[in-house]
Amino acid sequence: MSNLKASTDVLVVGGGMAGLAGALALRENGADVTLVEVAPAFGEVGAGLQMAPNASRVLKRWGLLEKALEIGVQPKHLVFRDAITGEELTRQTLDGEFEERYGAPYVVIHRSDLHRILLEACQKAGVTLVNDVLVQKVEADGDRARAYSAKGDVFEADAILAADGLKSTLRGTVADDRPVNSAYVAYRGTVPITEETPAADLEDVIVYLGPNCHLVQYPLRKGQLLNTVAVFKSPSFERGEEQYGGVDELEAAYKDCVPAVREALKNLATGIRWPMYDRNPIENWVSGRMALIGDAAHPMLQYLAQGACQALEDAAVLQHATRDRVFTPEGIDAGAWEAAFRDFNETRAARTARVQRTARVWGESWHVDGVARVLRNMLFKSRGDNNFQYNDWLYGRGEPGVPGEVRAGAVPAEA
Ligand SMILES: Cc1cc2nc3c(=O)[nH]c(=O)nc-3n(C[C@H](O)[C@H](O)[C@H](O)COP(=O)(O)OP(=O)(O)OC[C@H]3O[C@@H](n4cnc5c(N)ncnc54)[C@H](O)[C@@H]3O)c2cc1C
Repeated sequence: MSNLKASTDVLVVGGGMAGLAGALALRENGADVTLVEVAPAFGEVGAGLQMAPNASRVLKRWGLLEKALEIGVQPKHLVFRDAITGEELTRQTLDGEFEERYGAPYVVIHRSDLHRILLEACQKAGVTLVNDVLVQKVEADGDRARAYSAKGDVFEADAILAADGLKSTLRGTVADDRPVNSAYVAYRGTVPITEETPAADLEDVIVYLGPNCHLVQYPLRKGQLLNTVAVFKSPSFERGEEQYGGVDELEAAYKDCVPAVREALKNLATGIRWPMYDRNPIENWVSGRMALIGDAAHPMLQYLAQGACQALEDAAVLQHATRDRVFTPEGIDAGAWEAAFRDFNETRAARTARVQRTARVWGESWHVDGVARVLRNMLFKSRGDNNFQYNDWLYGRGEPGVPGEVRAGAVPAEA
């Protein structure tokens, strides 16, 4: 085959968090891994990222948590406030009992820093990284899988990991669906923390909840930067206009909020807006020798701050599902890929579907008004600090009583 570009054990399509994490996990198992990315350079656009213990446990296992802590921040609390009154509704202390319970810290980190940590780990481990490759099609049913690029190159591999994100082309191999527009739009921004920055809450993750809007703030880069995310429902989207969610709507959405929130809007980079999409959960992520991972498999709204966290969980579970099955003590059993992918899929799909669905409901509860807002506030205020009943399923090490916690779809602290 004259245009054969590479022949490898595993081809990963997409160099976001999921692709890099998946590549690293399989490389750690001993695979020869090639990762292709359409962008001309590797990197991440956007601002901060919250990494809950279910994800920082994975970094810990890979020896990367220290690096994340060197550049990230361990916030002291997660605090929810009403955006109209400023009243505190509930808080979770994030060190002490929380960290002990979940076996790893809550970390907030610039996305480009986490991406770089994963990229460098892949480089160090010997993953082959290739830019400027747009994969258009995959054939995964034969003895070898093939990926075809827009430039006519063919990549051949024992297995293909499709990590091509929310708008995944390769998802079309297993599902005929489209991203679902939530009608909400996000603006983000990072600014230096200076003497003029209001001192309140600078060591915490703060979430202001308002009718049809919310605002999140937390420090980044050892407390040098302040990260702000504003998310609101776009009236022009609801009217069916093509250009929706403009800066005029941003200002209007927050007009009744407390000054701390209105002031924080000045920190946003208004040049880019991010329409918020997810997809409905699907059960099957596997077609022969190809499996979806990350947003390609389970894109979710960001209200639980879990998209990248779930991608890291995916990678850890995939590492487990292929170890000893594909990567045996006698060598690589390439015939076992489909079964290993199915195991991975089965272990993960119910959990990620729950996270996708809960993210939608959680977001709805943030944005209510009227009686629902009064009731929401009462419920939040009735919750004491260190009440873990709402967190255990998400941050915990697995369902109680289930042996081998990876089976439950989550990742144990000790690996
Ligand atoms: C406002 C906002 C806030 C968020 N906050 C958090 C948070 O606090 N915590 C958290 O865990 N998650 C958060 N998320 C979610 C998180 O950002 C995503 O879930 C995560 O980045 C998805 O990673 P991915 O690698 O699956 O997809 P992507 O990051 O989309 O990566 C896909 C990659 O594939 C490449 N690609 C696509 N198609 C092809 C192709 N055909 N050929 C080759 N390459 C291709 C793309 O260029 C891209 O590099 C947030 C999301 C948003 C929008």
